[in-house]
Amino acid sequence: MGSIIRFERVNKIYPDGTRAVDDVTFEIEEGECVTFVGPSGCGKTTTVKLLNRLVEPTSGTIYLNGQDTAKVDVISLRRGIGYVIQDVGLFPHMTVAENIALVPRLIGWPASKRESRTDELLNLVGLEPGAFRNRYPHQLSGGQRQRVGVARGLAADPPVILMDEPFGALDPITRAQLQDEFLRLRARLRKTILFVTHDIDEAIKLGDRIAVMRNGKIVQFAPPATILKTPVDLFVKDLVGKERGLKLMKLSKISDIMEPFVDSIVEGTPLREALRLMKERNRDVLWVVDKEGRYQGWVRFERVAKDEE
Ligand code: ADP
Repeated sequence: MGSIIRFERVNKIYPDGTRAVDDVTFEIEEGECVTFVGPSGCGKTTTVKLLNRLVEPTSGTIYLNGQDTAKVDVISLRRGIGYVIQDVGLFPHMTVAENIALVPRLIGWPASKRESRTDELLNLVGLEPGAFRNRYPHQLSGGQRQRVGVARGLAADPPVILMDEPFGALDPITRAQLQDEFLRLRARLRKTILFVTHDIDEAIKLGDRIAVMRNGKIVQFAPPATILKTPVDLFVKDLVGKERGLKLMKLSKISDIMEPFVDSIVEGTPLREALRLMKERNRDVLWVVDKEGRYQGWVRFERVAKDEE
């Protein structure tokens, strides 16, 4: 089976009686990004922290790679799960490079490997290593700090990453920039990501699937287009907001509606043959391609018919 993560009837009741996670069951596929969205206090953070055991479940089972996480050594469990949070929690007395290389150092990577990895990651998150590796966190802007936080989460190359409101504290422009970078990064890295946000637009933009939460329950778990087209109830509909159609349109790509590439003809084909093909396939237009199949132009039926006369 392709699922890397499985929550099975998981509950978390805090000692004061708060039911933060209420009988939650779901699976996440390898390489998938799932965004957890819902109002403050609905249980998003608790849900993702259950995976790396920053929170222990009251009942239920959580599997990672088919293994019951309760039976795995917690240190080795966390090594396989990167963690990126809001305001990052960079250590102020450590340089950018030292902050990024924290986990690699803990797990005993040699200095040379740590250094090359740090530079690679700085480049990856759009910070020039020469300018940034020796700075301290207070010498960075909010957006730059958040980039360092993402680099640190990726440092030991974990297959799974938890991101808890990573862009929550940024101004809208920086935030949009980091979201775009996140999408580019994802295309290159294919990590499995659990991403917490209270912002439905962020959830739609970044998630392959969205888990909508309310009062500790997952009320809908579906791709963004499904959430937009068919919200399961009024709560989800309200969360998605008034501009459902517009948001859906933004999500749609031309590849979703294009016709399959069948009506092409090689440029050296005689007109008579082109005419026969167009009649046979009932087409007004054919794409003209070269011998390698590269697009060259197009022909219209009337023109072919006229010249062939
Ligand atoms: P979200 O991330 O959606 O804002 P949380 O998972 O942080 O929600 O919290 C879910 C519920 O659990 C909230 O009611 C919150 O107050 C409560 N909660 C979170 N952490 C604790 C804790 N350590 N002790 C008691 N209650 C908690």
